[in-house]
Amino acid sequence: MDYFALIDKLYSTRCLDKYEFAELIKNQTQYLSEYLFEKSRSKAYEYYGNNIYLRGLIEFTNYCKNDCLYCGIRRSNSKAQRYRLTKEEILLCCHEGYGLGFRTFVLQGGEDMYFKDKIIEDIVYSIRSEYPDCAITLSIGEKTKESYQKYFDAGADRYLLRHETANPAHYEKLHPPDLSLKKRKECLYNLKEIGYQVGCGFMVGSPYQTAENLAEDMMFIKEFEPHMVGIGPFIPHTDTPFHDRQQGTVDVTLFMIGLLRLMQPNLLLPATTALGTADPLGREKGIKAGANVVMPNLSPIEVRKKYMLYDNKICTGDEAAECRFCLQRRVESIGYRIAVDRGDCKKL
Ligand code: SAH
Repeated sequence: MDYFALIDKLYSTRCLDKYEFAELIKNQTQYLSEYLFEKSRSKAYEYYGNNIYLRGLIEFTNYCKNDCLYCGIRRSNSKAQRYRLTKEEILLCCHEGYGLGFRTFVLQGGEDMYFKDKIIEDIVYSIRSEYPDCAITLSIGEKTKESYQKYFDAGADRYLLRHETANPAHYEKLHPPDLSLKKRKECLYNLKEIGYQVGCGFMVGSPYQTAENLAEDMMFIKEFEPHMVGIGPFIPHTDTPFHDRQQGTVDVTLFMIGLLRLMQPNLLLPATTALGTADPLGREKGIKAGANVVMPNLSPIEVRKKYMLYDNKICTGDEAAECRFCLQRRVESIGYRIAVDRGDCKKL
């Protein structure tokens, strides 16, 4: 099989079948990656120029009722020191972020039952009133359609909910029995129907994952047409059942970013913190593979180390401003620029 020809085909038709994706992924090499990245970079440039969009991540609670086997803040991890931020603390993060040029705030957390709909609506409404020119993104897990609608009506415009894997049997191996891919997908479709800009995504190299599974992720994304796709390498966390599993590779993660950029060129694709944790230059490499978003941390410094999804997470000791300017330096060092705007998804 001519893998270079497959990349050409993806470039010109935006489409491959599952078998072709799987073969490409299995046969990823340095040569093939370089060939892909030249094309994926040029596609990113065509749609977004040399702009890299900033999302300020506010990790506002690490309480979680779920027990995902890979995640450091899973319910069963009794070693995790739990915290939640108050509305006032969250608004202070936004205030600092706004001054630093952030025009998107991402509120991410575990599935914390303390934050009833009324409380989330109140927080979203307050941010919306104070920062009418900013996008508000929620990443707080699976809720009913009614709840998603309430947050939307209060002023939220985007929602991140990674599908984690598009293969139902693989999904079961990563999650406790009360969670299912079916439910996850229902949530994603509900969010889209309501009118959110939606982000799905998956980990690369999660336990039991095969190249076919990654190909299935591509097929699901083709069908779902999200606005954003967040991907990063799986990184084990010491206090989880997957503590002794192998980390996902940076090379395959970058390869997936390149493939995604060719399949759906208008995507918002973050160079994630997990990518920067697996490789000190991971985020720069992500941008060179076609990523166009970075998500510096805006959480108060006291809680940073507690939102430990995986071991050795970077940027847990830096102030928001340090994170912001460190990323700006990194982005500019490879010829890109930080855009101070909401960074909405362009039309295909
Ligand atoms: N509770 C929210 C936010 C989850 S944390 C939700 O359910 O959407 C955000 C993402 O971190 C997860 O979707 C998962 O893909 C990623 N993550 C969790 N543990 C990880 C690990 N050990 N390595 C890499 N990424 C991980």
